[in-house]
Amino acid sequence: MALTIRGDTSLMQNVGSADNPLRVAVIGSGPAGFYTYSNLMKHTDIHVELDMIDRLPTPFGLVRAGVAPDHQKYKSVTKVYDKSAQASNFRFYGAVEYGSHLNLDDLTSHYHQIVFATGAQTDRQLGIPGEHLTGSYAATDFVGWYNGHPDYSDMRFDLSHESVAVIGLGNVALDIARLLCKTEEELRATDMADHAVEAIARSAVRNVYILGRRGPAQAAFSSPEVQEVGQLTDANVHIRSEELALDDISRQDLASNPDRRVEKNLAILAELDTGNSPGKNKDLSLRFLVSPTEILGDSQGHVRAIRLTRNRVAMSESGRIIAEPTDVTEMLDLGLVFRSVGYQGVPLADVPFDDYNAVIRNNEGRVVTEEGEHLPGLYCTGWIKRGPTGVIGTNKTDAQETVKHMVQDLKDGRILSPGQQQIDQAAQLIRDRQPRFVSYKDWGIINQKELDRGIAATRPRVKFTSVGDMLAELDR
Ligand code: NAP
Repeated sequence: MALTIRGDTSLMQNVGSADNPLRVAVIGSGPAGFYTYSNLMKHTDIHVELDMIDRLPTPFGLVRAGVAPDHQKYKSVTKVYDKSAQASNFRFYGAVEYGSHLNLDDLTSHYHQIVFATGAQTDRQLGIPGEHLTGSYAATDFVGWYNGHPDYSDMRFDLSHESVAVIGLGNVALDIARLLCKTEEELRATDMADHAVEAIARSAVRNVYILGRRGPAQAAFSSPEVQEVGQLTDANVHIRSEELALDDISRQDLASNPDRRVEKNLAILAELDTGNSPGKNKDLSLRFLVSPTEILGDSQGHVRAIRLTRNRVAMSESGRIIAEPTDVTEMLDLGLVFRSVGYQGVPLADVPFDDYNAVIRNNEGRVVTEEGEHLPGLYCTGWIKRGPTGVIGTNKTDAQETVKHMVQDLKDGRILSPGQQQIDQAAQLIRDRQPRFVSYKDWGIINQKELDRGIAATRPRVKFTSVGDMLAELDR
C-alpha cells in the first residue's frame, strides 16, 4: 500500500491555537463520529475546526438506519448530536464519499488529523449451502430496507410465506422478529419506511423462528430487548423447556463469573412462554442449541426449508463456551431466512485493514501499519475500530480513547502538516468534487419535511428513502 504522509514541521507550529486551529476530518456521521467531536470539545485549550463527511445526505448513521423504528426513545440521542452540529467550528458534508469524491491524499493535504468512523457496512455470512438462494437474506439488508436506507429501499423481500427463520441471538435478530410480529397499527406508530409498513402489514408471515446456536446463558441480546418479546400484542411466544434448562457447564460458568445481564435474561426467558393464548395471529418461537447446516431450495431456487443440527453446550480448549453438534438433526419448512449473525466492517481505500477482524488496523484508535507503526494523523473509532459490538453509548468511551491519543499526538507534534492551510480550502475542495453536497442546514430542511409528513400521517416521521427525493426536496 502506498501511503505518503507529509511531514513539514514548519507548518505544525501552534496547531490548536486560535490562529491555527487543529483541522480534523471525520469520515462518518454516526454516533462514533459525533462522539469524536464532543470528546474533542472537552479539550477547551485546543481550537478545533471539524468537518464531518458522510456518503449519505443524512447524518446519524445507524441511529437513523439501524436502530429499530419502534425504538424511538433510542433515537432521541440525535438531539445531542444536533446540538454539536450547531457549533460554528462544525461542518457537515453529506453526499460526499470517501474513496470516490475524496481520497486519502486529498484529506492529508487539508487536515491535521483524519478520523475514520465508517461503522460496519456489510454482514457476516453463515458459510452453509443454500445461503444465497432466493429468500435467504442478510439481516442488515432487511434492517436497511425497513429503515428506508437509500441503498436498500429498492430491495424486495417476498413476505408471502407463513414461516420465517431469523438466525442468531443478538439484538438485531430480536428487532427483526419483533417487527415481523407487529400489527399494522403498531408499525404505523413508528418511523418505519412506508414501503416496509405496507409489505409487513400485507405479509403472510405467521410463524417466526429465532434460531440460536448456543444456549440461553450465551445469548447476545440485552435484557430490555428480550423482555419486549413478551409484550407482543399479536404473537404468542414459545420456548421449549428442554432448551431453556441450564446445562452444567453454563451453570458452573455463571457461578464463577456472575453476570447480571445473563441472570436477568434467564429470569425473563423463564417467564416468556405464553402458550397458545387465544386471539393472537402469530407465533414467535425462540429456539436454542440449534445450528443451521443447510438451506434447501425448491425447483425455482427459492428457500423451502432449513436443516438444523441440535447442539449441546461444551467448553473449548481455550475456555470458551461453544456449541457442539450432536447427531440429531431436524428440518423446518419455511420460505424466508434472515441471517442475523453480525455486521462486518469493509476496507477503505489506502487505509490499513485487518482482514481477520474486519476492522481498520489500529492500536487504541491510532491507525497502524502491519508492523504496528502508527501512521501520523490517521485514527479510527466506533465499529470500524473495535468491531460491531456494544450499544450506542459504547461509542462514547470508544471515541474518548481515540481522542485521548489525538490530543497526545498533537502535543507531541505527531500530526499531519497539510499543504493547504485554511479550512476554507477544504470547503472549496469539497465543493469542487461534489457540488451537490448536503450541508447541515440542508439536512435541517430534509428533516423538517420528514417531520411535517409525519404530522400529516400521524406518525413520528415519514422518511425520504431515496437520495434523489432528498435532493429534489432541497431544490424546491
Ligand atoms: P451480535 O450481538 O454480535 O449477535 C450475533 C449473533 O449471531 C450471536 O447470537 C451469535 O452467536 C450468532 N452467530 C454468529 N455466527 C453464527 C453462526 N455461524 N451460526 C449461528 N449463529 C451465529 O450481532 P447483532 O445482533 O448484529 O448486533 C450488533 C451489535 O448491535 C450488538 O452489539 C448489539 O447489541 C447492537 N444492537 C443493539 C440494539 C439495542 O440496543 N436495542 C439493537 C440492535 C443492535 P454466538 O454468540 O454463539 O457467536
